[in-house]
Amino acid sequence: MPTRRVIVVGAGVGGVVAARRLRKLLSARDEIVVVDRAAEAAFAPSFPWLVTGARTASAVTARLGTLLGRSIRVVHGEVVALDPVARRVTVGDRELDADALIVALGAELAPETIPGLAAFGHNLYDAAGATAMHAALRQLRSGRVVILTAAPAYKCPAAPYETAMLIDAWLRRQGRRAQVEVDVIAAEAAPMPAAGPAIGVAVSGMLAAKRIGYTPGRQVVHVNPAAGSLQFDDGRVEQVDLLGYVPPHRAPGCVRGSVLAGAGGWIAADRATLETTFPGVYAIGDVTSIPLASGRPLPKAGVFAHRQADVVAANLAHAWTGRGAPAAFDGHGACFVETGDGRAGYGAGNFYAEPAPGIVLRQPSRIAHWGKVAYERLWLRGIVVGLPG
Ligand SMILES: Cc1cc2nc3c(=O)[nH]c(=O)nc-3n(C[C@H](O)[C@H](O)[C@H](O)COP(=O)(O)OP(=O)(O)OC[C@H]3O[C@@H](n4cnc5c(N)ncnc54)[C@H](O)[C@@H]3O)c2cc1C
Repeated sequence: MPTRRVIVVGAGVGGVVAARRLRKLLSARDEIVVVDRAAEAAFAPSFPWLVTGARTASAVTARLGTLLGRSIRVVHGEVVALDPVARRVTVGDRELDADALIVALGAELAPETIPGLAAFGHNLYDAAGATAMHAALRQLRSGRVVILTAAPAYKCPAAPYETAMLIDAWLRRQGRRAQVEVDVIAAEAAPMPAAGPAIGVAVSGMLAAKRIGYTPGRQVVHVNPAAGSLQFDDGRVEQVDLLGYVPPHRAPGCVRGSVLAGAGGWIAADRATLETTFPGVYAIGDVTSIPLASGRPLPKAGVFAHRQADVVAANLAHAWTGRGAPAAFDGHGACFVETGDGRAGYGAGNFYAEPAPGIVLRQPSRIAHWGKVAYERLWLRGIVVGLPG
């Protein structure tokens, strides 16, 4: 039988899980190639812990070799073009052809689309920005910290709320909470809107109980670094001493520039199989846009990238080897919501449920916090645990 090749484009959560599962399921003769611009990957769910100094960037980063193992070929370089008709990936000036293509390129962060934002604030969605936010927090004796979401839709919709709650707990431990105001100003109308109104009420209740100010539904349009002020689309201006922000997201440039780009530049994929309209080409994780019954897209989160990768790997292996059974992504997801003081809430449910997602958020507990820590430690050691079905 001839050797076949799968190219997994992107070595984030979805790409790593897809490649690892395929390596287990396919014949050793079949080649699995993973392409990424980076030689290492940070575990993003740990970034809120960088903000409070509970982790360092190096402690939450692993080499791709650790994450992928030896029997997966890694090609380092910038993906500049995707041709789903030919199943061809252009990496720098090289062209790689595949029998199957799995696009797992995530979302691109675009802070520069809000003038002044990057010059004044710290990007909570990259390791360097979260680390710089911690250094700035350590310097702050009094004043106002604002956690800002600079666009209404972003990956891990819990993260800015978790970050605000972790900052609150850290300031209390430092004995500085009375001197420092903590506020969340959000572009979205409620916390985690795709999870349904009950989750929004629960999370805003948690913020209120911690005396974290919360103003939803306000879109920042401009930041004035010299004045330390944020200008919003309703004309109001907010003064800020320390700003941590979630930047606007967009689909990666090579996706936007390809025929794969659908609405808003994201890739439309079958909600169950993640196959695109191009045979043998799949898209998983943050790079996709999957509409829900509510009209909102499925949130961008590692848990979905992981489960979708499992499904694509199982189906490809079934098609190529005849072994196993076809699988379908059913919309289930779960997430930890760190609330500070070594506790986390745990939300889980089915985002494909109709007419509305059935998501339940459990009371914060130490067990949930340690569940997240355990997952982090295993992932960074290259141990990919299966998620419940
Ligand atoms: C602060 C924070 C906290 C989070 N917490 C959670 C959480 O608790 N639970 C959860 O489920 N999710 C969480 N997430 C979201 C989660 O990290 C993402 O949803 C997940 O990583 C998406 O996986 P992915 O494979 O689609 O993309 P990514 O993991 O982003 O991987 C994309 C890969 O593609 C590569 N790439 C992109 N463009 C190119 C190019 N042109 N050429 C070469 N390589 C390229 C990148 O280098 C990257 O390695 C969090 C995210 C953040 C930022």
